[in-house]
Amino acid sequence: MEVLITDYTSEPKKLQGELDPQVFDMEDFTQIKAILPIRYDLRAQLLGLDFVVKGSLTFDVSMDCVRCGEFFSTTLHDSAFLRAFEVSDTMDYVDLTPDMRDSVLLSLPSFPLCSPGCKGLCSVCGTNFNTGSCSCEAPTVEGVWDSLDGLDIKQDD
Ligand SMILES: [Zn+2]
Ligand SMILES: [Zn+2]
Repeated sequence: MEVLITDYTSEPKKLQGELDPQVFDMEDFTQIKAILPIRYDLRAQLLGLDFVVKGSLTFDVSMDCVRCGEFFSTTLHDSAFLRAFEVSDTMDYVDLTPDMRDSVLLSLPSFPLCSPGCKGLCSVCGTNFNTGSCSCEAPTVEGVWDSLDGLDIKQDD
């Protein structure tokens, strides 16, 4: 997203709108199923030799829950977007796209959960415990030792 620097002065001026996330090239992020346009609400100004942009970014994203595998949608927010670009006489534009991309990526949870209390899936039959239940015996830690009970260990007396 290129911003025309000459539109700005030392007075902060609004820079608001929506950015199509297609420009971010997020295909590597397989946990993201869909991402809606990034809504930016920024102020930009020229301070000395710097073009300063600050404000917030908000976007809706749908992701896979790492615990139950279900899609869920959430709204993410970077309320502390702040960048300063050194400008020169020969520069007309500043490209905010790489910085907005960084901001979006940093806002993504590294361990996305559909809810903090997601109960996950049954490891035996795959039932989603958020929506149902099953009668599988949960494998217990003690069960690991059951097979040892069947061993006929001879004691030498
Ligand atoms: Zn979940
Ligand atoms: Zn089960």
